[in-house]
Amino acid sequence: MLCSDAQSVNERLAQAERLRLFLDYDGTLADFAPTPAHVDPDPAVGALLARLAQHPRIQVAVVSGRRLDHVTKLVPVPGILLAGTYGVELRTPEGARIDRVDYEAVRPTLEGLKPLWAQLITGRAGFYLEDKGWALALHARFAEDAEAEGVLAAAYRMAAVSASPEVFRILGGHKFLEFGPRLAHKGRAVEYLLDQFPWPGAMPLYLGDDDKDEEAFGVIQARGGIAILVATAPRETQADCRLESPLTARQWLATLLGHLDGLDQARQA
Ligand SMILES: [Mg+2]
Repeated sequence: MLCSDAQSVNERLAQAERLRLFLDYDGTLADFAPTPAHVDPDPAVGALLARLAQHPRIQVAVVSGRRLDHVTKLVPVPGILLAGTYGVELRTPEGARIDRVDYEAVRPTLEGLKPLWAQLITGRAGFYLEDKGWALALHARFAEDAEAEGVLAAAYRMAAVSASPEVFRILGGHKFLEFGPRLAHKGRAVEYLLDQFPWPGAMPLYLGDDDKDEEAFGVIQARGGIAILVATAPRETQADCRLESPLTARQWLATLLGHLDGLDQARQA
């Protein structure tokens, strides 16, 4: 259901006095970059996030699968909590860095897998191996379908035999495979942030566009919040409602500012 038609969502939002926003970046706030190596900030996103972050009734966290140093470049906005690699590496609004996983403990396994994946895609068009530091991602968005399927299946088998499932997880996706720590999980990240950085009385909201965001939707709902899917077409989702594009999502977020400003004006009147 589109959020504009979701009456119960809008009623709950109208009651909220403070909002705690958890926002995915790619495909949610901004259109997809051509490749993950592109880290050009979108001025429209930066301007909106700056307005949200400055509002006394709003806290903002950007929760991305990208590595933290890329998220930092994409969101050059002070006062925002940034979560990279699905929440493994964090930067607090004050600028402090938190690593939730011991880098030295996971790196040797990644170093073992990396040359195997690199060799697998050598000489093949349309593949891109991204070393995020905490995780390895194999992108096949520009590869031919059948070849992508075969290569990703082989990459999955290599990852599955190379590490303990207690420490690592393999994330699938459309023409995409990623291998990283189990804590690389947006649901676990949101839980951690709500527990470690509580803001009593704030309603949590999560906006995201893909299956990694779905892992956070249930957590947000269990904590009394609202989950919103950004997607052009309806699809199977746990979200409470849907916004049709990153542009719609930005416009919708801007209306929240109006609602909260209205609360303050009503009090002062
Ligand atoms: Mg996304």
